Amino acid sequence: MRRGRRQKWIIKIAEERIDILFQQAEKELSYNPERSHRYVQMAQNIAQKYNLKINGTLRGRFCKNCQHFIRPGLNSQIRLFNSSINVKCLDCGEIRRIPYINEKKERRRRKIESYTFKEGIDE
Ligand SMILES: [Zn+2]
Repeated sequence: MRRGRRQKWIIKIAEERIDILFQQAEKELSYNPERSHRYVQMAQNIAQKYNLKINGTLRGRFCKNCQHFIRPGLNSQIRLFNSSINVKCLDCGEIRRIPYINEKKERRRRKIESYTFKEGIDE
């Protein structure tokens, strides 16, 4: 067995911690934004240390520019634009685009279109 530095249980605990920190960040955001932003930083430190990627759902929850936890309607604005979501951080003005059509769906649509071009396929 390979003695890797990234043992599974350690990674699992790190991922759990990141999850918890984001949950805390969300809770604290309305009454203690500073603390909430701190949680995001802590989560990112953990991610960095263990070489983890912050996963899809959490990725859109904080601003990459100012590292603040963002929540739509509170300190972020969400606009739909073509096939992506534009998330604007109201703390620093950074806009991020998150594609919301995933590859699988895209592939399926292309398949459908290749059969026959029918009307009524909703964007
Ligand atoms: Zn920001």
